[in-house]
Amino acid sequence: MRRKLAAGNWKMNGTQASLAMLEKLASDHRDSPCDIAVCVPSYLLIPAAATTATGPVRIGAQDCHAAPKGAYTGDIAAGMIADAAASYVIVGHSERRDAYGETDALVRAKAEAAQAAQLTAIVCIGESLAQREAGEALPIIGSQLAGSVPDDSTGDNLVVAYEPIWAIGTGKIPTLEQIAEVHSALREALVARFGAAGNDIRLLYGGSVKPENAADIFATSDVDGALVGGASLKAEDFSPIITALA
Ligand code: PGA
Repeated sequence: MRRKLAAGNWKMNGTQASLAMLEKLASDHRDSPCDIAVCVPSYLLIPAAATTATGPVRIGAQDCHAAPKGAYTGDIAAGMIADAAASYVIVGHSERRDAYGETDALVRAKAEAAQAAQLTAIVCIGESLAQREAGEALPIIGSQLAGSVPDDSTGDNLVVAYEPIWAIGTGKIPTLEQIAEVHSALREALVARFGAAGNDIRLLYGGSVKPENAADIFATSDVDGALVGGASLKAEDFSPIITALA
């Protein structure tokens, strides 16, 4: 059985004052049957993990370097994220693929570094609007999955997030049929590659998930949770999404 996962992505938002929200989430969802993660800016990893150490909320980072250490000014290693007592790291978010030219090969190397550091990598994939309109969504997503996911992946060290680029921060979401079609293709590809273990890998949907649409998205087959950007910044938005998943 795959445990459901509600993962927040604060992106470059939040301050130390935002840590109070994590305490609220932890107390409101103390008995949640779902996994809850919040991926915070790097400078908040240590206080966020300390704040949530005993509750249901786990902390994640939003990127890591592929190398374990070295002369990479401004970067953070997966081992440092683990040393901060965080559990997850997002790799290959479309904002990073776009702004920093991250390729599938680099994303895979980052995911491998994350897994080597005992973190769970949340690997993001998703098509652009032009690719969707050209009818190329499924082949594009399939090739991103094949190229970005490490060989040693399991249900414990890998989560895949399907995030259509055109749905991120726009308020637009695919139809539930489109989400189901992509998730079922992803599941098939994972089982083809990893055998039965491919069934243990969680598939999140991401892109404009809100309290209003969460229940419908979560009722869609092969959706094991969500990666939530804007609506993870306030407890009053993220909390009902977590509740809808349970
Ligand atoms: P959004 O972002 O929920 O604000 O659309 C999702 C994401 O980029 O992970």
